[in-house]
Amino acid sequence: MKIMVKHQRPEREQQPEKKFILRKSGDTNRQAVPAVPSPATTEPVCQDLKILRFACEVTEWARALHREGKRIGFVPTMGYLHAGHLSLVEEAQKNADVVCVSIFVNPTQFGPEEDFEQYPRNEEQDLQLCRAAGVDMVYLPRPDSMYASDASVYIFENKLQSGLCGARRPGHFRGVCTIVAKLFNIVQPDIAVFGQKDYQQVTIIRRMVRDLNFPVEIITAPTLREPDGLAMSSRNIYLSPEERQAALGLNRALMSLGTIGVGHPAAELLLEQMRSIITQHGLVEDYIAIVDPDTLKTVSNVQRGHVALIAAFCGKTRLIDNRIL
Ligand code: AMP
Repeated sequence: MKIMVKHQRPEREQQPEKKFILRKSGDTNRQAVPAVPSPATTEPVCQDLKILRFACEVTEWARALHREGKRIGFVPTMGYLHAGHLSLVEEAQKNADVVCVSIFVNPTQFGPEEDFEQYPRNEEQDLQLCRAAGVDMVYLPRPDSMYASDASVYIFENKLQSGLCGARRPGHFRGVCTIVAKLFNIVQPDIAVFGQKDYQQVTIIRRMVRDLNFPVEIITAPTLREPDGLAMSSRNIYLSPEERQAALGLNRALMSLGTIGVGHPAAELLLEQMRSIITQHGLVEDYIAIVDPDTLKTVSNVQRGHVALIAAFCGKTRLIDNRIL
């Protein structure tokens, strides 16, 4: 896997060196949580990257920064970081004084038949990438401390989630909204950056923030791609060399739509065109759609600004991609 490591920004190097000393970890999360196995070693600590594992530590960190008038930028992730994630960090750094990345493979957004157990994880590599990118704090919640065992409150967006990935992955966006809301409450960011790569996700998060008055500005960052056009994804690691070639079909199908002029072509024709490219590449369609960018409703005639989205299986791996036309 090719990973672009961005070096620390020069202005950050001017800041006084932050020193973190080795300290024993303990559960400072005062929420009722199931017993957490006590760590055998001390928390990983480095000179320039703060690593926190407990919600109340993170909130204390955020409150202290807000008292100093600092703006907090936030990039929620499921880890196994790649250059796409790091481009979100860079965007957050442009819009905030300090940046927190969270790394948490959120069980509630995976269906029972999905890849929660197999989802790639590499904490050490993720921390190194965050360190090199000049991230200020990584929130690494312990898997068993995020949800109380009898948790019974969820956030369910009721319109935008009904099609596309929401239709194909029942419960997925309930899990996403709930974890993002929890993370916003814990991290208290002023801005949060999400990728256009997950177009439906960022659209739903914007709706949640609007409808529930979260005091967070949402920024959408463009999709970072490999040189041959494949959208970067943690799941690309699953692909065999042959599947990696076949996966190019998603971007090729989207690019085949070219520039949408004033003619407002029939969506059905463009969908057929994408479908045939997907099939030629040996991919199995999960859905192909062209939608209104705000309502996510499918359109009959395509205009500039509409969004084409594809989800397709490449072997067992489900990949998604999209393009704003
Ligand atoms: P994930 O770790 O897959 O949950 O993704 C965390 C964030 O990174 C989400 O906001 C994604 O949309 C974003 N992201 C994932 N892949 C890319 C990419 N290739 N380019 C830009 N952002 C991405």
